[in-house]
Amino acid sequence: MTIEVTQENLIKRLGPGRHLIVTDANVEAYYGKRFPGMDRFVIAPGEVSKSIETYERLIAYMQEKGMTRGDYLIALGGGVVGDLTGFAASTYMRGVPYINIPTTLLAMVDSSVGGKTGINMGNAKNAIGSFYNPTDIWLDVGFLETLPKREFASGMAEIIKYAIGFDPEMIQQIQAMDWPFDEMKNNREHIEALIIKSIAIKEKVVEDDFRDSGNRQKLNFGHTLGHAIEAYYGFKTYTHGEAVAIGMAYQLKQANQLGRLSDSAYETCMALFNKFNLPVDLRVPDHICGVAWHVAKDKKRKATHIHTIQLEKLGQLQIIPVDFTVFIDNLGCDLK
Ligand code: NAD
Ligand code: ZN
Repeated sequence: MTIEVTQENLIKRLGPGRHLIVTDANVEAYYGKRFPGMDRFVIAPGEVSKSIETYERLIAYMQEKGMTRGDYLIALGGGVVGDLTGFAASTYMRGVPYINIPTTLLAMVDSSVGGKTGINMGNAKNAIGSFYNPTDIWLDVGFLETLPKREFASGMAEIIKYAIGFDPEMIQQIQAMDWPFDEMKNNREHIEALIIKSIAIKEKVVEDDFRDSGNRQKLNFGHTLGHAIEAYYGFKTYTHGEAVAIGMAYQLKQANQLGRLSDSAYETCMALFNKFNLPVDLRVPDHICGVAWHVAKDKKRKATHIHTIQLEKLGQLQIIPVDFTVFIDNLGCDLK
């Protein structure tokens, strides 16, 4: 729900208890003072905190604080904070309730919706995790005022995915956005509308397929290559949204070259990526084999086939099983 996130509103919602806000140091620096009377567990920003060590420290802190099943965790941050907090909430004493307050665009439209939580094991992304829903998700677009432009663009990559893959009417709204903007006020309505539409799409798809076996795979448009790119570069070079943009652009280019996607649809999509300066190329050819190797290891690969998601026309995605060796050949890579 759309709400102004204040200490007063939180306390009203939660009632008395040993509640704990989990946040990262950047969000703490901007917004910590909004919650002067609430206990906060502050983690280092970035993927590095989705680790067993941070998880262990958080659980130890909850124990020390004497939290029990009636007490809430509150995730205040981006996807990293949300994934870690959700996982801690789902496992501490076999589950305590948690509220998710996403502060990045990506977390608002993607990671806070759908119930996936998790932490990494080294470079193995989300190797440990659970399906666990927060009791509430609080949406406050005001947090985006302080979000770095690059992180904003990363969230836009996911919004572009919803627009081109599920709801082409959103395309005009994206085209109408001012970018880059200094202040959000002229854009606020467009952005809020796009976020609400994106969440509705994800909720609908997830509701129909909670455990990720059928249609939910369409939400993974661009993600097979995207995850491999993130992993290959050690989660440092590209943000999640940037890597997914490259993955989508690759699939779109292929579909267009094979005559499955019209030139005009292809150009519309590319113009959206370009507007936000999102990368669209596997720019360093030498690295393609490394990326392909990570695709090979991807946990979503079933037997000898890989499920690729392709755009047939704007608003229509198809799940197409492709022989793994063909997929790798198409990347122009010889793994032998
Ligand atoms: P993030 O949580 O690392 O946040 C990005 C950066 O923005 C961080 O430096 C953070 O400190 C900063 N930040 C956050 N809010 C801010 C604000 N309001 N103002 C200023 N700075 C702010 O990254 P993310 O892109 O939000 O999330 C990425 C993570 O989400 C990845 O670990 C990914 O695996 C996960 N993810 C999970 C799901 C899911 O379904 N659970 C889906 C997609 C991605
Ligand atoms: Zn994603």
